[in-house]
Amino acid sequence: MAEHTAREIFITGLKNAHAMENQALSIMKPQLARVEHYPEIADRLEAHIRETNGQIKRLDEILVSLSESSSSLKDMALSMTGKMAALGHTVAGDEILKNTMANFAFEHFEIAAYRSLIAIAEYADLPALAVPLRASLEEEWAMAKWLDDNIVSVTTKFLALSEAGASAKV
Ligand code: MG
Ligand code: FE
Repeated sequence: MAEHTAREIFITGLKNAHAMENQALSIMKPQLARVEHYPEIADRLEAHIRETNGQIKRLDEILVSLSESSSSLKDMALSMTGKMAALGHTVAGDEILKNTMANFAFEHFEIAAYRSLIAIAEYADLPALAVPLRASLEEEWAMAKWLDDNIVSVTTKFLALSEAGASAKV
């Protein structure tokens, strides 16, 4: 008898991903509330918060289909993501840059999590459940790509605002 079946490992992974997505919301929502001078970032954060709510719904539905009530989930704080969130919330002159870096790291953490979950679903012979996970993975790739494409322009804008003496640079 296996100590843990692939199905059990999958369920644990789904619950961890559920906690990760709630962590994502707790990182992005305060950023969206604070951002003033970077409407392009505000728009993208708003869109990704919407996507994240959909990702949580997908995870809920998968857990329900496996007869695991997601309402009984108690999301545990992931220490790594928690530390990144703390970094992101640091109130510093270069907050927008720190947040951009933290978001870039977080999206890649999510990409790794979904790629692993998809591999587990396939190993556990639950390929239908990998389909919604692939949809979430695509959204994480797109967000990571957007951040990658915007790191330089955000930095350049931050430099211009700082040199112009803008008091609020977030
Ligand atoms: Mg996500
Ligand atoms: Fe994400």
